[in-house]
Amino acid sequence: MRILVVGAGPVGLMFCAKLSTYGHECVLIERNPLHHTLSRASTLQPASLECLKEFSFLHRLISRGQCIHDLMSWDVDRDLKNICSYDLIDGETPYPFRLHVNQSLLRDELIRFLRQCPSCTILDQADVTSVLSNSSAHGVALRMKLRGSSHLEQILHGDFLVVSDGAKSVLRTQLGIDFDGFDLPAPVVRFSVDSIPESLRCELAGVSYLKCFGSSVSCLKMSDGWRFILRPTIAEVSEALFSSDWIRKKLAITFQFLIQPSWWKTVSGLRDSYRVSQRVASSRVRQRAILIGDAAHITNTRGGFNLNFGIMEAHSLATSFSKGMYLDDLWSWSNRWSTLTRSVLLPRTARLLFGQTPFQSLGASDQKEILMRASLLDCLDVTD
Ligand SMILES: Cc1cc2nc3c(=O)[nH]c(=O)nc-3n(C[C@H](O)[C@H](O)[C@H](O)COP(=O)(O)OP(=O)(O)OC[C@H]3O[C@@H](n4cnc5c(N)ncnc54)[C@H](O)[C@@H]3O)c2cc1C
Repeated sequence: MRILVVGAGPVGLMFCAKLSTYGHECVLIERNPLHHTLSRASTLQPASLECLKEFSFLHRLISRGQCIHDLMSWDVDRDLKNICSYDLIDGETPYPFRLHVNQSLLRDELIRFLRQCPSCTILDQADVTSVLSNSSAHGVALRMKLRGSSHLEQILHGDFLVVSDGAKSVLRTQLGIDFDGFDLPAPVVRFSVDSIPESLRCELAGVSYLKCFGSSVSCLKMSDGWRFILRPTIAEVSEALFSSDWIRKKLAITFQFLIQPSWWKTVSGLRDSYRVSQRVASSRVRQRAILIGDAAHITNTRGGFNLNFGIMEAHSLATSFSKGMYLDDLWSWSNRWSTLTRSVLLPRTARLLFGQTPFQSLGASDQKEILMRASLLDCLDVTD
């Protein structure tokens, strides 16, 4: 069996890596140069770490990232602080922590692994421009254009097509699959700094969700500093997008009780922003084509759920192929993951991990349940 995989994001790469461990042939096609350092998602949940555990590079990835052992919610206005320790789930997983690591490092490790797999061919700078055939009877044919000076066109044939070409998937449109949902009205704004003053560091957990003076801030400890994530209100959008002072002002107000507001003016930091949407593919499967990752769903990025869900799907799909999945079984795989997308991914990101009333006092069993859900460990059995 030969599987064509379009898109070498973390999800397409994960699918090929897992499939290669079973010796199945795959061809991975990517339109851009393979290596880049774009900063995108930065959280690997315990469930994703379990999907990666058979790869020897996981130890290296863990040592290059930041292991987070506590998760905090802090309502500063009500002086209410909640800290959940991942120790509560150490009986449930060999990885009772979340790993903060840039998505590009995971990609690099997967690429390095795949370069050594004889069953996987990687074609980069090759743009898939159309699906020529996708028939139950005859298999899949794709047209691709090689980038660079040649602009040569080539046709590729395979038994199945895995579509992992991201949120703006061209193949999804060509296959006639809708991607309905909505764009969130305000973007996400991030600010990364190398270090923070001791007085602030001591008060924060490795991941802290703060509510303060009516706004909310997520604080992530990374191996090379701290990342602050803010979600402006609609009224704040233009200032948040076009004035680099907006985020400094917001952070100064939020943490004024811990550090001098003027500190934010002097620190050098990297600021960026991106739009967030919630959209789901109307179908995961069209004849021999299967959608996974951002091509199938995008959500609010909090908790890194979108990326983590994609990794679990890729793991599950490759495992199913290895067990001999064929055309008739595709629908049951697809139904399982469509149901999980609607019952787990969307509501969880919408509720922002902490349920309807996130900033309240919690007992140990509530904390454990929150961590199981936030870690996606309660969905892990379906990945095998
Ligand atoms: C700025 C930014 C910040 C983000 N932050 C977070 C975050 O904090 N938490 C979180 O969970 N998620 C975040 N995300 C989303 C996260 O990055 C995605 O969920 C993740 O990348 C999905 O992986 P994927 O492999 O499905 O798709 P992608 O990573 O988008 O990969 C798709 C690949 O397909 C290739 N491709 C597309 N079309 C073709 C074609 N026709 N032919 C060949 N190749 C093609 C693309 O070049 C790309 O390499 C962020 C995204 C962005 C843009």
